[in-house]
Amino acid sequence: MADDCIFCKIRDGEVPSDILSRNDHCFVIRDITPRAPTHLLVIPVQHFTYLTDLAPEFYATLGDMFSAAKEMAMREVGAGDGYRLVINQGDDAGQQVPHLHLHVLAGRTLGAMG
Ligand code: AMP
Ligand code: ZN
Repeated sequence: MADDCIFCKIRDGEVPSDILSRNDHCFVIRDITPRAPTHLLVIPVQHFTYLTDLAPEFYATLGDMFSAAKEMAMREVGAGDGYRLVINQGDDAGQQVPHLHLHVLAGRTLGAMG
């Protein structure tokens, strides 16, 4: 684990959080500052700081993350009204937590990407 990584601490139970779903590769929590009625975070179990750090041997982890995101979005809002998946990479994208994660946003009209 990376020192002082909040998502590693949640993974290890050192910081309490309601883990909605978990498998060997990733786990899902609700964002603490939701930007939509449904705002989930899909987080790989292994600490990767950035998407760009991810070596090809770990690309299966991305597949697991997207699969979990799709399942959780379907569970929360169904397919009909849609949802958005976002990865913020680095400073220009406003990445706050340096542990790769996939945002799942749904439950309202999300508007154009800015
Ligand atoms: P990003 O800007 O892509 O790095 O997103 C990080 C997200 O993590 C933000 O939307 C925060 O609200 C969220 N976050 C930070 N700490 C926690 C926490 N302890 N539990 C749940 N979500 C968190
Ligand atoms: Zn971490």
